[in-house]
This record gives sequence, C-alpha cells and structure tokens, in this order.
Amino acid sequence: MLSDLSLEELKNYVNEKGLPTFRGSQIFDAIYNGKAINEITNLPKPLLEEISEEYPKYKIVKRYESKDGTKKYIIEFSDGEVVECVLMSYKYGNTICVSTQVGCRMGCKFCASGLNGLKRNLSSGEILGQVLLVNKDLGGTVKERKITNIVLMGSGEPLDNYDNVIKFLRLVTSENGLNISDRNISLSTCGLVPEIYRLADEGLNITLTISLHAPNDEIRQRTMPIANRYSIKEILDACRNYIDKTKRRVAIEYTLIKGVNDSKVCAEELIRLLKGMLCHVNIIPLNYVKERGLTAATRKEAYQFVGLLEKGGLSATVRRTMGEDIAGACGQLRNSYMRGEA
Ligand code: SAH
Repeated sequence: MLSDLSLEELKNYVNEKGLPTFRGSQIFDAIYNGKAINEITNLPKPLLEEISEEYPKYKIVKRYESKDGTKKYIIEFSDGEVVECVLMSYKYGNTICVSTQVGCRMGCKFCASGLNGLKRNLSSGEILGQVLLVNKDLGGTVKERKITNIVLMGSGEPLDNYDNVIKFLRLVTSENGLNISDRNISLSTCGLVPEIYRLADEGLNITLTISLHAPNDEIRQRTMPIANRYSIKEILDACRNYIDKTKRRVAIEYTLIKGVNDSKVCAEELIRLLKGMLCHVNIIPLNYVKERGLTAATRKEAYQFVGLLEKGGLSATVRRTMGEDIAGACGQLRNSYMRGEA
C-alpha cells in the first residue's frame, strides 16, 4: 500500500513507472492530507487508475463522542478489518491513541483488546492512516496539522509488530510528512524484553511506557501471561538500558485492581523495585471490561496508593480517565464493531 512508503520511496515508485518525480510528491500530499482516491483532483485519470489498487482505502466508518470531549473513531481497512483509535484534546494539543494490531495475542486478563486473540498486524501505512484520517477529520492538513501527540496505546502490542511500528515512527516523524516530534510520541508495551533493547538502538527518542501492573512476578503472572516469559527484573534492566541510551524518563503504567495489586504491601514492593530509576508511575483505576469480571479500585484508593508511592520517593500520579462512557478508555478498545458490540 502506498501509505507504507516514504516520500523518497514514492518518488522511486513513480520513476519506475516512467513518470516524473513530482507525481510522487503529489501522491504523497494526497495521502498525507487524508484524501480518498476520488478526492484527488490534480492527477491524470490514467495514473489514478494505475495506482488505484495500491492507494490506501482505509476510512472512518463511525465516530463516538464522549461527554468529556474524547472522540473514538472506528477505522476500516480494505480487507474489512476494523480498529479503534481515540482522540483526546488537551490545552496543549491533540493526542491520538492508535492501534498497532487488529486484536492482540498477549491475553492480559483485564484488557478487552485480546478477547478474541490476534487477527493480524497492521502495516506501517495502516497505523499512519489512523493519524492521517483523524487529522483530516479535525480540519488539519499535512502543513497545518491538528495532531500534536501520539500514543501507541490502542489495541495490539506494538513490539509484537516491531518492524511495521518502527517504519510507522519513521514515517510520522519525517520532516516532509506530519513532522511530529519523537518527544511527543509514547510507545506502551507489556514488556517484550529483546524488542525493548532493539528499540533503544533505533535513534528514536520516544517515551517508553511499560505496562507493569504488579510489584512482583507472582502477582504479574496472575493477570499477564507475558510475565511467564520475562521477569520484572529483565524488563527493568531493559528499561535502564533504554534510559542510558536515550536519556528519556520511562513511564510505568499500573492499573489498580481490587484485591489483586492494590495493597499497602504492593505499594512498598513497588517502591523498592523502582527507587532510583528515572521513571514516573501512572496509576490507573481499572476501566470496566464486562467480560473480565475484575473490580476496580476507587479513585480515592488510587490517590491513597499514589500517596504511598510519593512518600517512598517515587514520582507518581493518578491518570485521568477519558472516554470511558464511549468505551474509549485504556484497555477498552476492541475490534468488535462489525459484530455490533461496540
Ligand atoms: N499492548 C501494549 C499497548 C496497550 S496500551 C501494552 O500492554 O502496553 C493500553 C494500556 O491500558 C496498557 O497499559 C494496558 O495494560 C492498560 N489496560 C488494559 N486494560 C485495562 C483496563 N481494563 N483498565 C485500565 N487499563 C487497562
């Protein structure tokens, strides 16, 4: 698909067809302005016909808007698969939360994204497509973009789709594209250790976010199957390497689940684990996922937990929950729209 290609690659693509280089720039502009092929007015018809197979066909098929202004978009790809992405508006700009896979194979017990396993990976151009479509929906263009920040925290495990995710990051940060600063991008992972080491060497200074959710391996194994593969120690060693290489502070996500990981003892263990590491802990009260049968800690309990962490010397805050009324909050994204469940 043509949105998988950089500007250079698109220029080569048209050159190979015997066409002048500027045609590549025109196609690039159309893609980056989120245009469907029938909205392109500056290309000759035979050329449009020639590229129509490979021109992106993703589209927004539904929008939901939350009371708090958060928007959830359902995006459909050419094979009929759908993903959800979420737009959050803040004073400083607009953050889009993109999906990296249709479904997920990590199987975390609290999350909706893996309920039906992994359907398929998204290509780099399909991840980018979510940003381009939403940017256009907000009235943005490639020159005047409305999206300022990106979080790879939708459905899927980004590091389980490593090459496409890296290519996406290079496309979305490229100067002639949306030119989004790597400092404004966060990638969240449940902790695929070898890929965290690889990521540290990509020269992309994005914020690494770890979905930790437990202070020890035993508790982590109860809710996250990946904990049987990598220990917390291995994950944190990989984080320290990431910090060394990028000088970036790592974010730790910790979803508070009643009776599972919310005790004072858990807080104390977490302090011992993270003390001295350049990190910030986000405490998220569990968001509701009907199939999962887990109970959330209250916001008050979340603030108390944060209080304990702060007293122990950690930097921590309670993450604001956005878009829960449209099932657009952390862990609520799924690919069930076509089955009418969303
Ligand atoms: N697979 C990646 C990216 C998903 S990001 C990862 O695991 O990090 C989505 C975030 O929401 C992750 O931190 C995930 O652990 C968290 N999450 C999942 N289900 C949740 C729920 N029900 N309530 C709150 N957070 C949840």
